[in-house]
Amino acid sequence: MNYRDVSSFYALYKLTVRKNLVQDAREIFEAIIDRVKVLDPVNSRSWFDSLTLKNLNGGMLEIGCPDSQSAVFLQDTCIASFNMAAQQITGHLVTIKFISDSKLSKGKSAKQTTGEPKLHPDYTFDNFVVGPCNRLAHASCVAVSKSPGKTYNPLFIYGTVGMGKTHLLHAVCRETQNSNPKAKILFLSCEEFVNRFINAIEQGSMSEFKNQYRTVDLLVIDDVQFLRERDQSQEEFFHTFNALYDNQSQIVLSADAPPGEIPSLPERLTSRFKCGLVARIDAPTHETMVAIVQKKARLRGMKVSEDAAEYIAGRVKANIREIEGALTTLYALIGTTGQEISKELAKIALGENETPNKNISITDIIKAVTSYYDVRQADLQSKKRSQSITMPRQICMYLARSLTDYSLEEIGGHLGGRDHTTVMHACSKITGLQQSSEKIQLQLTELTKRITK
Ligand code: ADP
Ligand code: MG
Repeated sequence: MNYRDVSSFYALYKLTVRKNLVQDAREIFEAIIDRVKVLDPVNSRSWFDSLTLKNLNGGMLEIGCPDSQSAVFLQDTCIASFNMAAQQITGHLVTIKFISDSKLSKGKSAKQTTGEPKLHPDYTFDNFVVGPCNRLAHASCVAVSKSPGKTYNPLFIYGTVGMGKTHLLHAVCRETQNSNPKAKILFLSCEEFVNRFINAIEQGSMSEFKNQYRTVDLLVIDDVQFLRERDQSQEEFFHTFNALYDNQSQIVLSADAPPGEIPSLPERLTSRFKCGLVARIDAPTHETMVAIVQKKARLRGMKVSEDAAEYIAGRVKANIREIEGALTTLYALIGTTGQEISKELAKIALGENETPNKNISITDIIKAVTSYYDVRQADLQSKKRSQSITMPRQICMYLARSLTDYSLEEIGGHLGGRDHTTVMHACSKITGLQQSSEKIQLQLTELTKRITK
């Protein structure tokens, strides 16, 4: 090998080593994201897959986010799980920094953007399902964000809890910000407004407080019903309102009742609230609920069959918030396997059996299963993991779940002190097998017959 060869060999070597390093860093990064999804299923979002590795160097991991709102969301809501995941994957303490990729706020880290309203990345118009119950509220929010201060001012949205008021208000802010990045936007819960007001009084900084509120282009206050019985804050709110209104700044408010029905609000305030557009959100119809289930599932990267979505929508009845809880349970069950949620699986995970039988005990089930498969009860309850034991054990869990009212924890407890996730996995596995294997299906039918006779 002559000198030239050596140097080009060395260059090549350097290149591959570099490439390997990049490969490794990317693999580590991907493993961290996967781990976060497991550690924090409630906050995991399908757009986590669009997070990018900016830099992994020593103890510092910089993560690129699609926009500044998602960077703020991650920093606020998910930092603990990212830290934990990074530590588990790398074995070291890692400092994590979220950086926005968007051109509007290029290079800003999440910390620098905290002056911007904290908007939930899922609460966009795209992710809002429009139905007869919320058509007017949605349309007026869209109109307002297209031309703030010019259409309906103030816009007052009301409806009971969980109807999507906060979602719409976030979407208004986001849309206004996207179409006019320079717009000064203030988004506050009513409580925050009151607290800041009280602080300003205590610290003698009322004039700053007034200036801050009276110079914005869009002021959004969520849950104004909390203004009741806050005389002083009501007064300040009234003046802020008038100043903004005269300025043609947009005001958007939400409450759990129409302006005239919020107790203890003075008439001069409620008549102000009424002078623009008041839009009510009603409880969604079943069809809208099903569509919301599908939308929420897609946001988490989950596949839900049509009849499973129908089933989940029926289970949570009118409370949209419960959809999130139901999906979190289901997510924990399928993990990151990408398995489609069938109606059977949804039924098992959400704990509703059509014919739960109070007279059947887990002992009955264990007895039937041990005699059918000719295994010993002690083995079912032991740590043994051979196929001949694992399968009957999982069948016990599945049958206990589908034939009785016992909780996942109780079932796990009866089968050797196993935790609820183990029981859920067993149920998920047997549900899958029941669909794919005729043999298992026959066995389950036979066992069910013996147990319920
Ligand atoms: P509210 O502020 O009226 O109590 P939220 O805005 O907090 O309700 O909504 C509760 C949950 O329901 C949120 O996860 C929100 O995204 C969801 N949600 C409500 N209505 C809809 C809808 N029409 N489309 C999609 N999601 C919705
Ligand atoms: Mg709300």
